[in-house]
Amino acid sequence: RPLGVEMPVTMRFGIYVQHNSSESVQTMINYATISMDKNRSSQKNTFTIFTNEFREQMIHNAEITSQMEKAIDNNEFVLYFQPQYNSATKKIVGAESLCRWIKRNGTVISPKDFIPISENNGYIRVLDRIIWEKAFEMMSRWIERGINPVPISVNISRGSLESDTLIYVIEQLKNKYNVPADLIHFEITESAYSGEQDKLIERIEKIRELGFKIAMDDFGNGESSLTMLNSVPIDVLKFDQNFLKNNADSEKTEQFITSLMKMAQQLQKKTVFEGVETEEQRDFLKSINCDSVQGYFYSKPLMEEDFLKFLKEHS
Ligand code: C2E
Ligand code: CA
Ligand code: CA
Repeated sequence: RPLGVEMPVTMRFGIYVQHNSSESVQTMINYATISMDKNRSSQKNTFTIFTNEFREQMIHNAEITSQMEKAIDNNEFVLYFQPQYNSATKKIVGAESLCRWIKRNGTVISPKDFIPISENNGYIRVLDRIIWEKAFEMMSRWIERGINPVPISVNISRGSLESDTLIYVIEQLKNKYNVPADLIHFEITESAYSGEQDKLIERIEKIRELGFKIAMDDFGNGESSLTMLNSVPIDVLKFDQNFLKNNADSEKTEQFITSLMKMAQQLQKKTVFEGVETEEQRDFLKSINCDSVQGYFYSKPLMEEDFLKFLKEHS
């Protein structure tokens, strides 16, 4: 202030209450740091006390991490497919591939339980590559079997976007499996666009130069700015499912969605809506000319063979 700079400062504290005098200072500081990072606010001073819940979560995360490598060797990661429909013709026009971890004993682990953890420990880059390879391999098998496939959208996590390696990996997969590039799309979640923009744009451009389409996933979930729409080279806008969930004032929500849809169309982006659960939602999206729709109204994510059956019936 004496220098004439008005710089708001906020503070964040993590508190760990010692229970056991044999714990090292370093361990206690670690616990306090973990608590500190649980609660962030750019406007408010915050403090968070370490709880047993945090401890259990840490143990759970460590367990998942330690099992992951073995699970990869055992081929326990499996792709499911959720169909995407043209909202007007009711035909399948694509599918999103979603990963499941199926343990040897048959337990199915949802990606929500291992993707965020592997994003934190860096393992996501390995996992992403394995998942992409499965998608390419599967697509080439479908073509070989004489199936008339639809494009499959594959997820790219934020962690994979942080290095140029992904471009080489994708290029290698393209050459190895010889799959037409227009049959694979990549989805990048909106929140991944917040990092180093120039590098990110360059990487996305390179993937597009290889012939693949890029979708911005979870569009509108609040983390991105609209200007990014203009600066980041994307082909498809995939609207976040939360738009359909919090219909507190549904007329207002519909107006809001309609305006965003118009903007997307004016920018000549293809539009996809996910999380469509009811006929009303489908009819509304059709009325505003959303290109394709995906959600439980049509189908949950399906195992490969079930998806292929579905595809045969609905294409
Ligand atoms: P996402 O990419 O936004 O995927 C959409 C999620 O919404 C999927 O959950 C899907 O099953 C679910 N969903 C689809 N339709 C509906 C609906 O009508 N209602 C509701 N309530 N939910 C619907 P899932 O499969 O559990 O995946 C969760 C998240 O995990 C994904 O969100 C994505 O961020 C991540 N994920 C899943 N598979 C992969 C993968 O192979 N690679 C990477 N990097 N991330 C993945
Ligand atoms: Ca996605
Ligand atoms: Ca999404």
